[in-house]
Amino acid sequence: MTLLTFRFAPSPNGELHLGHAYSALLNQQMAARAGGRLLLRIEDIDITRCTPEFEAGIVRDLKWLGLDWEEPVRRQSEHFDEYKAVLDRLIAEELVYPAFMSRGEIRAFIAETERRGRGWPRDPDGVPLYPPLDKALPMKERKRRIAENMPFAWRLDMKAAIASAPAALSWLEFTDETITTTRIVEATPQDWGDVIVARRDIPTSYHLAVVVDDALQGVSHVVRGQDLHSATGVQRLLQELLRFTPPRYFHHRLILGPDGRKLSKSLKDTGLAALRQAGLSPHDVRRLVGL
Ligand code: GLU
Repeated sequence: MTLLTFRFAPSPNGELHLGHAYSALLNQQMAARAGGRLLLRIEDIDITRCTPEFEAGIVRDLKWLGLDWEEPVRRQSEHFDEYKAVLDRLIAEELVYPAFMSRGEIRAFIAETERRGRGWPRDPDGVPLYPPLDKALPMKERKRRIAENMPFAWRLDMKAAIASAPAALSWLEFTDETITTTRIVEATPQDWGDVIVARRDIPTSYHLAVVVDDALQGVSHVVRGQDLHSATGVQRLLQELLRFTPPRYFHHRLILGPDGRKLSKSLKDTGLAALRQAGLSPHDVRRLVGL
């Protein structure tokens, strides 16, 4: 039997709060109950917002909570070559295209469309979908712009991707944290439009790096917050296109703030470091998150 593998994958662009504590502790508990292993992955592709100080803080907070994980820790910023190799496969298969529009150009295009009385679709996060202009550019024009060093991101041709990977339109989700039963969840990656697969400055995006790492690390069980539920459709699609074995998923409840909203990294009073300084114990944190 293969070893079950879980992972906790924070981004070091802020301090950990109670929501992260719940996710990390739940991963640990589920891995222990299943006799599996737990990995820690530092998702720091955003080199402008992620810092070594935040990373050190995360490790300190997790150790204080009593979490332990299998070494080595995988730091995404050290693996750009691996993402680039996978991106090159998608480029060769013409499943991605160079997207040149700046944020301002996208905004102007949508404002103009809406001014003419036509609505413009938004993704599940409320962000307008990428306009179809660049996808329609003739190859000659694409080449000319690239030769002129115009900055561009690589975007997934969602329509072509779905057409070439129809099996990707569902994933297996555990019905509860005992991971005994799964159900099939219908995936609707098209809700996200032509998502970014590689940003202008780096050869990857959040989705691509997660999918590559989960596959390379042999992750069998992804346990993460409900806020990533609909992003799973995009990740399933990438797994299918890249012929990776998909993990199974459990999207857990979110820890909400006193205002009933999702905790954010700027909510200082729910930060683990602040709670520790206020005299709370790891046991108190478990109780606060209902574990
Ligand atoms: N790095 C992501 C975050 O901190 C989590 C990604 C994942 O669990 O798939 O929200």
